[in-house]
Amino acid sequence: MRVCIHRGTQEVGGTCIEIESGGKRIVLDVGLPLEAEDSEASLPQVKGFRERESSLLAVVISHPHQDHYGLAKYLLPDTPMIMGAAAERILKAASFFTPAGVAFQRVRHLEHRVPLSIGPFTLTPFLNDHSAYDAYSLLIEADGQRVFYSGDLRGHGRKARIFQQILKNPPEDIDVLLMEGTTIGRVSAAKQFPAERELEACFLEQIRQTPGLVLVWASAQNIDRFVTMFKACKKSGRQLMIDMYTAEILRATGNPKLPQATWDGIKVFLPQSQKRQIIKAKLFSLAECYKAARIYPEQLAEQASSSVMLFRPSMSRDLEKAACLKGAHVIYSLWPGYLKRKEQYPFLEWLERHHIPLTHCHTSGHASLLDLQAFAQAINPKMLVPIHSFETGRFKEFFDRVEQKEDGKWWEIS
Ligand SMILES: [Zn+2]
Repeated sequence: MRVCIHRGTQEVGGTCIEIESGGKRIVLDVGLPLEAEDSEASLPQVKGFRERESSLLAVVISHPHQDHYGLAKYLLPDTPMIMGAAAERILKAASFFTPAGVAFQRVRHLEHRVPLSIGPFTLTPFLNDHSAYDAYSLLIEADGQRVFYSGDLRGHGRKARIFQQILKNPPEDIDVLLMEGTTIGRVSAAKQFPAERELEACFLEQIRQTPGLVLVWASAQNIDRFVTMFKACKKSGRQLMIDMYTAEILRATGNPKLPQATWDGIKVFLPQSQKRQIIKAKLFSLAECYKAARIYPEQLAEQASSSVMLFRPSMSRDLEKAACLKGAHVIYSLWPGYLKRKEQYPFLEWLERHHIPLTHCHTSGHASLLDLQAFAQAINPKMLVPIHSFETGRFKEFFDRVEQKEDGKWWEIS
């Protein structure tokens, strides 16, 4: 096999890895870089991305995070895609509400530890504990060689057990491990992250201290976090209000064990922006699905003190109009770095204007250094290639048999 990491040897985001065997090729992820323009021009130079080319057998999406699939919308529409079934549904549901979603024409599905044949390649996915739902690591076999791509992973989420499973029962004889290192250099080496389950107490405490409406700014697609929030709501006796986009994402998981908009204690709020989208697309059947669970703007003020709302700054106008912000409190439950960006200044001003305090309550979607070390040790590859990190140069301090590669350069697996 030959490998070319088009993007990822120097950065978090924009991951794209091409693997070739006997003239046939597969691509792992086609992510949107954090800084590059969201346009076709950012699509890596891969044969078959811009013109029909039969040697490109498939594009595999490891998980539904933009930095792993974000440029896929610029691929030819009939490009053969491979991803988790729930991941496909989530991206499709998101495509109605946000420009970040995407619907594909030809998709095969990944299933935990079920091998898939693609020309000369055998692809075996391993479910990951990560902040995206339906996320996988990928074992790629061809020419008697074995490459393992970590995807994005962690060991402290709600699927921590799946992480422990791969440590105990790892794929063997791995020639090359392509391993993410998002948190390397971001936090001190010894730091272990709080477990997702521990966050519940943080949420509960903040909810109990808030006289008015609790606004939780979290990603609608971080299902682990949603469960944390829902459990804290249950314990506090408050109802949880979600928007229709979130309701559709929950439905797209297809997992009956996860909270759904139709469950007791959950209400569906339709912000103006989503209302306009539904009217424009004449998708009244969608609104109809959630009719029994709806909460309307004129009810927000009276129910504020008994509610928690999954929030995004795009909803600020709706809440202002509903006059439900007295005694409100924002729980910020995303990567702290986003809040420091210039584009968030208007939101911070909005908080100030309404005297709304903000509390951080978050844990990383990525593994700590200690978990990455345990993972690398379990996989025990002949060569470890760092990817998906701003500090790939530092991997040598923490791992054995590290070989750094360059973006856009082909190399042979020996
Ligand atoms: Zn991710």
